[in-house]
Amino acid sequence: MTNNQIEQKANEVLAAYLKKGGSHKIFAEIMQDEGIKYREVLSENQNFAGALTKGNSGQVYVMVNKSIENAGRKNFTIAHELGHYFLGHQLKTNYFFCLDSQISEESIATNDIEHEANYFASCFLMPEDKVRKAFFSMLKNSRKAKIKDFLHVKNDYTFSIWCGIRGDLMKRYGVSEAALRYRLKQLGLARFNF
Ligand SMILES: [Zn+2]
Repeated sequence: MTNNQIEQKANEVLAAYLKKGGSHKIFAEIMQDEGIKYREVLSENQNFAGALTKGNSGQVYVMVNKSIENAGRKNFTIAHELGHYFLGHQLKTNYFFCLDSQISEESIATNDIEHEANYFASCFLMPEDKVRKAFFSMLKNSRKAKIKDFLHVKNDYTFSIWCGIRGDLMKRYGVSEAALRYRLKQLGLARFNF
């Protein structure tokens, strides 16, 4: 699947569900409508991050390791598992167990399937239109208002601009800084050298 096809799929799912606010706020609603059950599970395997599984009865579960404390990481894991679901990956096998190393907020993955689920999670949590709009409006309101459409973050005053806006964006979209930086780079809105 190409990146464009994956992005389109993420947008289709969002268009059907999205209200005001971050996509992470509607996980429960999406799963309920799709008949998916959500479970946070304790695992002895510390590398276990999340899974999309199908029980014998056909019940689909999204499972997430209970020990993930970082909210952004947990949201990314849930969105990644929903990526497997909406991209139809569950048709190939009955379950996916995703290791911590496979769920990469910077879209680095060991194989195509995991890469697709990561890219879906990125598009899903940070829809292009919304991120672009929020980013531009925050740049406009920053002290150095001359920077309007692209932020090259270096070890100078641009770093303080970044510090001034990253927290708001992370909170709004329920993501970690790594995930946010990856998406901004990928959308051509920012570059990071520090
Ligand atoms: Zn996965």
